[in-house]
Amino acid sequence: MNETDLLAAASDAAPALLDAVRQRLGEIGADALLVTAPPNVRYLSGFSSPTDARVLVTEDEAYLLTDDRYTVQAAEESWLSAQVIAREWLPRVAELVTGQTLAFEAEHLTVAQRGTLEKHLGRAATASEGLMRPLRMRKRSFEIAWLREAARITDVALSRVVAEVLRSGVRELDVAMELERAMRAEGADGTSFEIIVASGPRSAMPHGVASRRRIENGDLVTIDVGARLAGYHADMTRAFGVGAVPQPLTSWYHEVLGAQQAALAAIEPGATGVALDAIARDHLGRAGLGERFTHSLGHGTGLEVHEGPSLSRRSNDTLESGMIVTVEPGVYVPGEGGVRIEDLVLVTDTGHEVLSLSPKDYREIG
Ligand code: ZN
Ligand code: ZN
Repeated sequence: MNETDLLAAASDAAPALLDAVRQRLGEIGADALLVTAPPNVRYLSGFSSPTDARVLVTEDEAYLLTDDRYTVQAAEESWLSAQVIAREWLPRVAELVTGQTLAFEAEHLTVAQRGTLEKHLGRAATASEGLMRPLRMRKRSFEIAWLREAARITDVALSRVVAEVLRSGVRELDVAMELERAMRAEGADGTSFEIIVASGPRSAMPHGVASRRRIENGDLVTIDVGARLAGYHADMTRAFGVGAVPQPLTSWYHEVLGAQQAALAAIEPGATGVALDAIARDHLGRAGLGERFTHSLGHGTGLEVHEGPSLSRRSNDTLESGMIVTVEPGVYVPGEGGVRIEDLVLVTDTGHEVLSLSPKDYREIG
């Protein structure tokens, strides 16, 4: 994978992306959009410190606004050549949209910022919601390449740590630390989220981030981990036995794996988030575990670890080629334990391609 080529592809794709944003703006009757949500700022500009930046898309220009700590970085990274360096950026936004109807991201701009913005505009701005979501759901080829590489790094790190570190007596935190070290050594910028290492009874917690608990013989250990690369987030879960794991934990493992494989088999363009969730939920229901699957089946990943589309009972999304989603059924029984298995999956023209290549056969270590 050539990093320079991928960055160039992102830059080349920027004009088409801005056109798509303007088309969405037309649908809500606005001329300009103030983008403040950091993943959207990065998506539109390529700037890698988006929490300290905004993008303003107007009828005929697109600006990156940041402050003087980032003058050099913005010039180096952002494919938006119009750059405004200012600490007081809200008045500058108002100046740049004279005579245009301005929309803002209602999920992110604060009430105080909206007040300041409208004071400088001398008129109301339009609250928009979810304007960027459908654009970000379908990945372009360079985004797929980043996510594929992030998934590869995650696979390499997990296999290394399972072989060299995971055993009874080791703290969950040590497993997490070695996973992060291995991902960074393999090329990651960092982790996608706080690494989950949930062993023994802690595996009943779907989001049991690594603790000081020492792994014991007989534990089932759930590890949920992902590499972050160029702003893109991989996400994968595997579970391992350490020593001989008692029933019913191993049965749960096989039921979760069956549910995961059934849902994976149905991933293709046109499949709905509701239908996919139901496939996994029905499989676990037939094993008497339906009530123990307490979260949704999956989510898109990209510049955020959780983004559209959603695979859940409440989803309104339908899969399209180029989307990247997780498929992650789980079973959790408080006081006893749990298991989850999660892959990152690319929706292709003809079906799907699983990007997570770590083995899923049940394994006991040590
Ligand atoms: Zn995960
Ligand atoms: Zn996930």
